[in-house]
Amino acid sequence: MSISQLQEQFREAVPALKPKEAIDEANRCLYCYDAPCIKACPTSIDIPSFIKKIATGNLLGSARTIMEANPVGASCARVCPTEELCEGACVLNHDSGSRAIMIGLLQRHATDWAMQNNVSLFTRGTATGNRVAIVGSGPAGLSAARELARMGHQVTVYEAKEKAGGLNTYGIVSFRLPQDVSLWEVEQVASLGVQFCTGVKVGVDVQPDELLAQYDAVLLACGMGQVPSLGIEGEELEGVLDAISFVEETKTKPLDERMVGKKVAVIGAGNTAIDAATCSVRLGAAQVQILYRRTAKEMTCYPFEYEFAKQDGVEFRWLVAPTRILGENGRVTGLELVRMELAGEPDAKGRKKPVPIPGSEFSIEVDYVVKAIGQSRLVPLIESFGLAHRHGVVQVEDGTFQTSNPRVFAAGDVVFGGGKTDAMVVDAANQGKRAAQAIHQVLVG
Ligand SMILES: Cc1cc2nc3c(=O)[nH]c(=O)nc-3n(C[C@H](O)[C@H](O)[C@H](O)COP(=O)(O)OP(=O)(O)OC[C@H]3O[C@@H](n4cnc5c(N)ncnc54)[C@H](O)[C@@H]3O)c2cc1C
Ligand code: SF4
Repeated sequence: MSISQLQEQFREAVPALKPKEAIDEANRCLYCYDAPCIKACPTSIDIPSFIKKIATGNLLGSARTIMEANPVGASCARVCPTEELCEGACVLNHDSGSRAIMIGLLQRHATDWAMQNNVSLFTRGTATGNRVAIVGSGPAGLSAARELARMGHQVTVYEAKEKAGGLNTYGIVSFRLPQDVSLWEVEQVASLGVQFCTGVKVGVDVQPDELLAQYDAVLLACGMGQVPSLGIEGEELEGVLDAISFVEETKTKPLDERMVGKKVAVIGAGNTAIDAATCSVRLGAAQVQILYRRTAKEMTCYPFEYEFAKQDGVEFRWLVAPTRILGENGRVTGLELVRMELAGEPDAKGRKKPVPIPGSEFSIEVDYVVKAIGQSRLVPLIESFGLAHRHGVVQVEDGTFQTSNPRVFAAGDVVFGGGKTDAMVVDAANQGKRAAQAIHQVLVG
């Protein structure tokens, strides 16, 4: 497989609607009064209104309606589990012979138009003289920055990476979410006068105390950390990868042919695992297996991600856990696994505990092992702000996102406490927006 073929594999996988398809689809909408899709969208986008605007050719108005409610609406159009959210609530699901409106694709149609036409959708509010610092420029930080700037506050975003956008820019694979989309959302926020200090790590390059001294309020929107280690023998071998860094490389460095024809095992079954597995397939791997210690019923990725991976040819092996990574001359050659069973009382999330079956160990041949067992928590950063937290999940007041320090707020993955499903971009965006409203209340009353 040549480099240009690999690059082709990383182009956006789902095709956009053509203009006529978009209008036809928009015209199917019933424009329900009290529309259930609005309630099912965490950011409460006025969906019938943006769809009506598409139907009448007002794409600028449509994009504005979307982005007004959701500052990362172009990314969400691509990555939201729509069948569980807006599209899942569409009344047409109950109409025999019909199907839900393709809300995600229509949302993409309108925001793509705004992107291609390089329009600035919003303007800055009248200056209040208040200064707010935001740590992290992912969906939560961006969303809050946009809202605070529109309310007239002076906002500075501190971002450790070279570019802003968080996991939308670096973590979600290009063939689902191209980097340009996320960077356009960043530009929309920057055009309101928000200052982005990229390449600046809070806690290292600037200290929490300095932020608290210089700003009227601080929002912690730093997300989560890297993939934790498996804690088994052989993790230091060449060919053992961390899923988040692996995906990030495909978004930031030239693609290479090192995986062509290789066997890849991905450990975990959340959205990070799916992205790592589908990336491996597109990098030319001959066999990609997702290994999970529970069953399909308990995995945290969304059904659309599961389907996407299966269509890409990813194999799934349930009820197995890695016990040892095998190697030769410093490189991975195989993986030792043990079979598991679900036993005992269900935990708080209703999932039975997986336990190893003694004596059931077996080995498989692999060239790469990709660790995708979730993300660690940024405990040192949280503690350097002196915030109350539970195992690295910052404790916030319901609705206001205020932490144990009344001048510090927190939103997004840093307050995500786990659950049956993975964290979502749209939830982070909504929390950032609501935290901004609460900060505004505290600052101006
Ligand atoms: C591989 C993968 C695939 C995913 N797929 C989907 C999907 O399909 N659909 C979906 O809805 N969700 C998906 N998610 C989840 C989604 O990306 C997150 O829930 C969302 O990005 C959280 O937003 P956030 O702003 O809280 O954090 P992040 O997006 O993680 O942004 C936090 C930012 O803070 C910065 N930061 C951290 N520490 C510091 C510091 N000390 N100083 C300065 N900056 C700092 C980071 O560099 C980062 O840019 C996926 C996640 C991953 C990892
Ligand atoms: S943001 Fe997500 S949930 Fe909300 S309408 Fe758009 S695609 Fe649906």
